[in-house]
Amino acid sequence: MSGYIRQLVWTALLHVFLPSASAAPPGDAASMAYQREVVATLTDASGSGVLGVRSSASQRAAAADWIATQFGRLGLRPQRHEYRRKNVNPVVDLLLAPYRGTNVFAVLEASDSAAPHVILGAHYDSVPDSPGAIDNATGVALVLDLARRLAVRPDRRFHYVLVLFDQEEDDEVGSRAFVDYIAAQGWPVHSAHVADLVGWDEDGDRAVEVQSPGAMLEGHYRRAADARGVTLHVTRGASSDNRSFLDAGYPTAGVWEEWDHDDSTPHLHRASDRLETVDFGFLASTTALVYDVLLDMETADRDTD
Ligand SMILES: [Zn+2]
Repeated sequence: MSGYIRQLVWTALLHVFLPSASAAPPGDAASMAYQREVVATLTDASGSGVLGVRSSASQRAAAADWIATQFGRLGLRPQRHEYRRKNVNPVVDLLLAPYRGTNVFAVLEASDSAAPHVILGAHYDSVPDSPGAIDNATGVALVLDLARRLAVRPDRRFHYVLVLFDQEEDDEVGSRAFVDYIAAQGWPVHSAHVADLVGWDEDGDRAVEVQSPGAMLEGHYRRAADARGVTLHVTRGASSDNRSFLDAGYPTAGVWEEWDHDDSTPHLHRASDRLETVDFGFLASTTALVYDVLLDMETADRDTD
């Protein structure tokens, strides 16, 4: 299929699945169609010259604009968190400009205004010269698809903060700034869930790694994975924006393909990290897993009332 025809086919499919947010079914088929469109657009798979690499200030700004339109399309109000952060070493500030960037987020409110916040995040920037399909258009697609599913859910038990971070590839500057923003807002945080590299599954086992979730979140992830018949590996450390939330003391799950289990993209940070390498079945399966985790958390929250 030519890129143009492919675009038309996906657009037609999306009109089936997305006539409006309220009519969107929550199944994996709808996720796959929607997520393919997100990754194709962010990586500029059709070669239109819009978007693609998301590294320079102007490239990142174009991606942020597109993400904001996606929130609008799902019926959410997009918000921009524009930040400016000094370099860690103040002397470096004399040599290099301070960091500037934009996190794009939307809040789906709970029925109870006093409910805690659950953060669902992923970075949207890429390294220079890479279209960053798996790293991390897949994470963006996971978060946007959760927005699509949660938007039609009545009686939400948490305020869901759906956030796409700028500048993960620069020492996670965007998510660090967002953690400060959360503190300034005074939001009580139940937990954070951060996806990075969720599009590779060469062995086809749908297994997922969850990094440093802590006991409470590990319980929710294990229950959801067992119910789906998916292997869950718990790993240590923090390799992405999940570090910003762990450092702030929040229960935080980093969601990954099998990075520590030898089944992760070989195209990381290369020009070949393209749409064609993404396993959309794995992405949809992993998105559904996180969604089930959220439902499990809501049930536990209800039981403690
Ligand atoms: Zn990444």
